[in-house]
Amino acid sequence: MSGGNRLVTVVAASEQIPRRTTGTDASRSESRCPQTEVARSAIRFDAIIVGGGPGGSSCARVLVRAGLRVAVIERRRFPRVKPCGGWISAPVWDELELSRREYPGGVWPWRRCHVRYRGRAYRIGARGDFIRRVELDDFLLRRSGAQVIEGHPVSSLERRDGAWVVDGAYAAPWLVGAGGTSCPVARALFPRKPGHPVAALEREFEADSAEIAAARVGADGEPELLLHDDLGGYSWNVPKGAWLNVGTGTASAKRVRSAWAAARDFFLESGHLPESARGPLSQVEGHAYHLFDPAHLESAERDGAFLVGDSLGLAQPLTAEGILPAVLSGRTCAEAILRGAPRSYGPCLSAHPTIRDYALTREILRVLAGMRRGTSASRVPGPFACSATARGFAWMFSGRRIPGGRLLRIALDVRRGGPPA
Ligand SMILES: Cc1cc2nc3c(=O)[nH]c(=O)nc-3n(C[C@H](O)[C@H](O)[C@H](O)COP(=O)(O)OP(=O)(O)OC[C@H]3O[C@@H](n4cnc5c(N)ncnc54)[C@H](O)[C@@H]3O)c2cc1C
Repeated sequence: MSGGNRLVTVVAASEQIPRRTTGTDASRSESRCPQTEVARSAIRFDAIIVGGGPGGSSCARVLVRAGLRVAVIERRRFPRVKPCGGWISAPVWDELELSRREYPGGVWPWRRCHVRYRGRAYRIGARGDFIRRVELDDFLLRRSGAQVIEGHPVSSLERRDGAWVVDGAYAAPWLVGAGGTSCPVARALFPRKPGHPVAALEREFEADSAEIAAARVGADGEPELLLHDDLGGYSWNVPKGAWLNVGTGTASAKRVRSAWAAARDFFLESGHLPESARGPLSQVEGHAYHLFDPAHLESAERDGAFLVGDSLGLAQPLTAEGILPAVLSGRTCAEAILRGAPRSYGPCLSAHPTIRDYALTREILRVLAGMRRGTSASRVPGPFACSATARGFAWMFSGRRIPGGRLLRIALDVRRGGPPA
């Protein structure tokens, strides 16, 4: 495809495309984009990023800081609501190069979580933070310093003489797909992902803070996590001051609605949510997204186009945490662009300690699933196994690295019958 001219329509291009822009004046931009006919008529940048979530804004920030002219083209207008629990594990702050004190939005730190599994309740020491996505994403996008083109759903991509032309209007030699699960760059230029996505439903809504405080199981910010009996997903109930965030995620997208209904009923009937939550919880939003699979990294880049975050399918294989891998992949992608070494992106990502942990977690889960298949389905785990499961989940939920990762990797390689990697 390199060097050829190709137009890819991603969605019906009949939508009105408002061109409200913020940031610096794009028409005055200088760039290294080739001076072809299309590139001359289009507004030129060094890099175009499609999607302004944490993956896109993290990538943009690193590129802008290095002096590149960067446009982030975003379908929605920010601040926008993105279905998300707003759980941030500790490494996210480091990846964002942001301290909690510096962050102007609401932060709810927690040092304990309340896990419920097979009718037993556990209060477990673990740590992390909750934020509100509507605030975080807006802050990160503005902080990136990129030119933000909002309210513009990208509908066509064209490859002309070494440049990517977006909707005939914007051109750049580098194109980053950060549009989440339905990213137009992923759909147009990259193969479909193997395997099925997971699904999550969620609602964040305002309520009376005194009523929330009277109902919640722990302190403000402490999550109540309901592990589904078959370990096919989990649900959450998170008090954030005068806000409540309640949701469900399941490995099988088909089961998410029924699991959500069961979790909502449990939280309401146990009195862990105020009665006033019943109305808001009749409406939930969500979407499907892909958990990490090493095979996804084989299609991370082509011809100067990249995928980051959900568009690449990077979420943590057990908890489905997606903000951390979105941010770190955005940064890793930007670093590959700045090195002028686009092909180094996939290998650098797979060598990242967090992504190595994800690969290991996926492998461990695969082995455990195989062991479970070998035991009788009617066998109910005993108290020790339930407690270990709840604690293991809380460990993962604090974003901690897997202890003894190297030894575990060797053990898994030996089990597979191959030489240790
Ligand atoms: C219900 C739910 C709860 C979750 N809870 C958590 C949690 O608590 N913690 C956590 O770490 N992860 C959570 N996740 C996962 C997390 O939200 C995602 O993994 C993360 O948002 C991925 O970031 P991203 O930047 O790749 O994509 P996104 O955040 O999805 O951003 C993509 C952006 O691209 C834009 N876009 C899409 N199409 C186009 C187009 N055609 N043109 C222009 N722009 C476009 C979208 O409007 C969007 O703003 C949750 C997911 C769901 C569904």
